[in-house]
Amino acid sequence: MIKRNVISFLLLCAGLSCASAQSSFDTWFEKKSLRIDFALSGNAENQQAALQQLREEPVWGGPVKNMTEPFDYGGYRVEVYDDAGGRLIYSRSFNTLFEEWRTTAQAGKETQSWSNSISVPFPRKEVRVVISGRNRASMKFSPLLELAVDPKSIFIDRGKLKNNNIIKAQYMGAPDEKVDLVFLAEGYTALEQEKFKADVEKFTESLFNTPPFDARRSDFNVWGVGLVSEESGTDVSGKGIFKHTALNSGYYTFGLDRYLTTPDMKSIRDAVWNVPCDAIFILVNADTYGGGGMYNFYAMGTANHPRTPVVFVHEFGHSFAGLADEYFSSEVAYDESFYHTSVEPWEPNITTLVDFNRKWKDLLESDTPVPTPTNDSNADKTGVYEGGGYLAKGIYRPKQHCMMRDYAPFCPACSRAITQMINFLADKPAR
Ligand SMILES: [Zn+2]
Repeated sequence: MIKRNVISFLLLCAGLSCASAQSSFDTWFEKKSLRIDFALSGNAENQQAALQQLREEPVWGGPVKNMTEPFDYGGYRVEVYDDAGGRLIYSRSFNTLFEEWRTTAQAGKETQSWSNSISVPFPRKEVRVVISGRNRASMKFSPLLELAVDPKSIFIDRGKLKNNNIIKAQYMGAPDEKVDLVFLAEGYTALEQEKFKADVEKFTESLFNTPPFDARRSDFNVWGVGLVSEESGTDVSGKGIFKHTALNSGYYTFGLDRYLTTPDMKSIRDAVWNVPCDAIFILVNADTYGGGGMYNFYAMGTANHPRTPVVFVHEFGHSFAGLADEYFSSEVAYDESFYHTSVEPWEPNITTLVDFNRKWKDLLESDTPVPTPTNDSNADKTGVYEGGGYLAKGIYRPKQHCMMRDYAPFCPACSRAITQMINFLADKPAR
């Protein structure tokens, strides 16, 4: 009896908090963005954060009901608290390229500072913003930067930025109820803007031909921002090639010839200042195989290689749904500290079996052995296969083949994570 009362009480609380979440956006926020640019500096041992600038930007394309993220993802997270009551009113997790750099050999020898940027809905009242980083060995978050933000402050930059040509490639409805995917042109000159438009259409079709995105096309708006670069292409620093482009991208990230990224987060956020934006894909006008993607940061890929439409979907898996690489034999720049096998990684599609219950255990048939032998008779079986996350031992993946390993169809664990993220960003119940 007591137990039943406790359960009813909990259900009542859950119902109340859900109802209040739906009405609270307008209490706390305006449908504009507060952009927070901040530096992360440090090395393999430690990191610090410092504020660079705050900006008021005219659009909020994110959810208005799903204001706190239900996933325990990411190497970083931003939280907004009501300054008067201390209540958490917004949260979102993300990754950075700086975090990856911290696991390279270079970070064992030198200290660097990188620019980063995150947007939250624009507060109506004074709020406290906390940016936290996760320790890879303990998986615990701790605060790196705490800010008191007065929305009326004269220290918030409210200026307009460059009005780039915005392409509305697919419009399905109000941005807060849709996932707003934004393609940015990189390495396209003024004369190549029609090509960019055609490339946006090509990659949009590639995404929506791929399960589970195919069934959810109507939950997405797709935009293109026609950034104009002085020169065509991108940097290939290892071969002495440097191009003057809008977003300063290049191959040879961390010394790897096919790892294509940019550290220039400020230019990326400047490009989307007036576009609803839940996810960024940077299309690079180059023909060499390559790309990169970090969760809720950006994904990048080349437009002109025959395999790039499928590379795009793989990289988007990283940036959109926080999926880990399921391969373990390719060359990577990270040393063994990228994943610690003594703790459960946060990514939904790999496990160390430390806490498999919160992963895809419910997707296994009851007679599936854990770990699952890698053989032909298990080719289509969802299981727990050793090898993933760059390690051949101690990390397990859900299926022998998947988009996140070798461009096969997404495995059931990846598909579910993608579906949950679409639900979250389209302002539907995430799980
Ligand atoms: Zn997978």
